[in-house]
Amino acid sequence: MGRYLGPSCRLCRRESVKLFLKGLRCYTPKCPLEKRSYAPGQHGQSRVKLSDYGVQLREKQKAKRMYGLFERQFKRYFTIAHKTTGVTGQMLLEQLERRLDNVVFRMGFATSRKEARQIVHHRAVTVNGRRVDIPSYQVRVGDVVQIGAASNGWTARVKGQLEITKDRVVPAWIQVDPQQLKGLIVRLPRKDDMGLPIQEQLIVELYSK
Ligand code: SF4
Repeated sequence: MGRYLGPSCRLCRRESVKLFLKGLRCYTPKCPLEKRSYAPGQHGQSRVKLSDYGVQLREKQKAKRMYGLFERQFKRYFTIAHKTTGVTGQMLLEQLERRLDNVVFRMGFATSRKEARQIVHHRAVTVNGRRVDIPSYQVRVGDVVQIGAASNGWTARVKGQLEITKDRVVPAWIQVDPQQLKGLIVRLPRKDDMGLPIQEQLIVELYSK
């Protein structure tokens, strides 16, 4: 699967919101959005009134970029959410949150979802004692996610990242044990746990046209 190789901060400026794509830098005054909170490019500072479609599109792009997904992957989550019993928008966010790379990020083991994905790819994560190297793996209630003992040097690095992220709030649906580098999924995520600046209803409206 390909990945976006362009400048991450440009994406935040495009969406006018912090997407936390760069790790440590996002939590410091060095974040470019602190100084330039307008869209990149020649016309970035001009005021343009968006159409309804434009507003919906921006909301979808924001969510997609926050989780580091491409259009096809994101649309697939929408299709599954649409078929699932429940409110489509909330089902969509629930699936995005349940991705293993997001869970590793939420636990504070990584400073960005991109780094969390790298940790998973490098086979440093176990779920219920078995190695899982698929970032899109959907965690379930009762799963124990842990940085494996033989994790190619990631243990020391993750301990360092925990020090950096120690002030970040871990959502209530995950219980973290920082000493053991593990976390338990105590329940499924809900919208109010996520603290996301996303209006999921606009995404549903966009895809339902
Ligand atoms: Fe976004 Fe982080 Fe760059 Fe700030 S530092 S613009 S939050 S990626």
